[in-house]
Amino acid sequence: MNNDRIDTQATGLTSTDQTFLNNYKARLFDLVNDEFNDGESSCLSAWVRCVQASLQAGEVLYYQRLENSYHLIGSHPLDSYPAAVFPETIDHIFEGTEDGISEWVNAPSRLSGFDLAFRLSDQKQNPYGVLLIKGMKSVFSRGCLRSFADHSAAYLGKMTYFNQVVEEEHRYRELFKVNEAFHSSMDINTLLGQIIGTLTRVFPDYEFHLLLSNDNDKNHGNLPIRNFDYDSVNKAAMQAFVNGTVESEFQYTDEKLTLYAPLKGKQGVYGVLEVITSNQFKFPDNHREFIRLLAYTAGNALENAKLYQQSRRLISDLQLINETSHRLNSNLRMTETLTFLKKQIKRSFQASSIGFVFVDEKEEASVLPESSAFFQSFEGASYIHFVKRKIFKEKDALFIGDVNGKFGKELSFLSLMAVPMVQNDSIIGFCVVLHKEPYAFSFDMYKLLQSFIHHSTLALTNSMLREKLEELVVTDHLTQLYSRSFLDEEMVRAMKDDEQGVLILMDIDDFKKINDNYGHQTGDEVLIQVARTIMDESGEIGFAARWGGEELAVYLPQKDLKSGLDFGTHIVKRIPEKTSPSVTVSCGVSFWTRDRADHVKDLVKRADASMYHAKNNGKNQMANILF
Ligand code: GH3
Ligand code: MG
Ligand code: MG
Repeated sequence: MNNDRIDTQATGLTSTDQTFLNNYKARLFDLVNDEFNDGESSCLSAWVRCVQASLQAGEVLYYQRLENSYHLIGSHPLDSYPAAVFPETIDHIFEGTEDGISEWVNAPSRLSGFDLAFRLSDQKQNPYGVLLIKGMKSVFSRGCLRSFADHSAAYLGKMTYFNQVVEEEHRYRELFKVNEAFHSSMDINTLLGQIIGTLTRVFPDYEFHLLLSNDNDKNHGNLPIRNFDYDSVNKAAMQAFVNGTVESEFQYTDEKLTLYAPLKGKQGVYGVLEVITSNQFKFPDNHREFIRLLAYTAGNALENAKLYQQSRRLISDLQLINETSHRLNSNLRMTETLTFLKKQIKRSFQASSIGFVFVDEKEEASVLPESSAFFQSFEGASYIHFVKRKIFKEKDALFIGDVNGKFGKELSFLSLMAVPMVQNDSIIGFCVVLHKEPYAFSFDMYKLLQSFIHHSTLALTNSMLREKLEELVVTDHLTQLYSRSFLDEEMVRAMKDDEQGVLILMDIDDFKKINDNYGHQTGDEVLIQVARTIMDESGEIGFAARWGGEELAVYLPQKDLKSGLDFGTHIVKRIPEKTSPSVTVSCGVSFWTRDRADHVKDLVKRADASMYHAKNNGKNQMANILF
């Protein structure tokens, strides 16, 4: 307020006037010292009491003008004064007064009985509010009252401005604080909690909700967070979300005003912040701006956190794919490849059932034994049938959130992913992954499964081919021992032509550890050393063969059980001496004689059982038991 205006208008005052004005100014000065830190409404109350004391009035009422309404502050309890009535009567009161002072209050009966009314406004005549005074003991000149009104308006102007600055500072401090917190946390729930916490501290009278799009996390605790449901949100919320602008809407039914501020990052909008208030027609511009800024900051923080989580997930997916490729490239046998894949899939997707299916040229499906047992069941077969039909029709992978009703009712597993194994443009099989709950798999998981299967298809077909080939060749490539199929044929021949014979089976103890500790190459070398030893030892008297993996076999034609036991005992002793890093073996034995009906299959079975006895009995030994 301009001081010149007060001075010129205050000329020609009586000494009572002067004393009153000085007294009032002194009190205002005290107020500035006492009240300025307690917020606007306590400042106003104190000022109303100060007016009452200075004028020695019976009662003072002040109607503070807010955006579109009046807020009533009185020197007495306010029960009897209707705040809502006032706006309609305000112009009426000051009708015919040039200077905004009315000595006769022409107001509805509930407001009658007042001696004076002041319209207090800023220099541009924007009203701060209306001051009503009742029961004054002294009479003051009009000039004095004018001066009183100017001082009061000046005080209100300063006070409002000061309070706004303080409030604004407080709010922006909060924004700064929350901004800092946003940058120090990558946990989405912590961030959301901070957004809500800040808003409730800054605007305790408003109600807040966060509507988040694509929010799969249902675990937000007590935070007021809802899914942004595209089908059911109202127009203003949708507009805020789509256009990235702040929108508001007044609901006449429940007289609620709602503001929607987009949670906007650099790459997209992640939802909207909903702010609700009950007794306003419009949000003050500074509140709106603050909420917009906070929502913007929150959108960026959410984006950062999401990107961070996404990159972490991608890194772990890549590590997984890397590890898987690595393992698949180490020439595993098919069973091992599948078991490994199954383990990875189970671990990555928390899958309930995993099936591997090969499909032959006639499109006949066979479920591989490494699949979960469920696929051997009747219901399992219906899943396989469904997937096979779809995959051959669409020539693409399947990603279904809820299969219920698609090929049967009351299905045991509702989430389904299936990826075809494609080689040379033809589908040679597929992998099915199931989960009991619907929508248990995310799109990222689906992509990861595709990656797994693409990487492993070649390894699988390679090992399949290798195993087929192994059956055809006579010698094993790595060890130069006879192949298993050759030994099989040799035993069939022997049982036809000879009188007796013995089979010794052996398995390297803890061979996996050799691979794990020294690598596969060293594992191969040790395998060759073991093979060389048994080849040398069996020499002229028998056939040494690679039975499979790290299992070897020696067949001694025409020999009896004792020779077999002696040979095995000797081998068990020799192997640790002949290998580096040193390994031990466990041996089992079985024999046949012409006087007993027998088959190669049974001979092998008995040797196998005997060998497992040696394993279970502590390894590094020749079994002393026959089956
Ligand atoms: P156990 O004493 O019970 O026989 O333990 P193990 O570790 O020897 O047995 P397991 O069957 O768990 O593991 C056999 C390992 O032999 C796993 C497989 O990778 C490895 N293996 C099989 N064939 C080869 C091969 O040709 N070269 C190499 N380096 N390792 C092989
Ligand atoms: Mg083995
Ligand atoms: Mg072994």
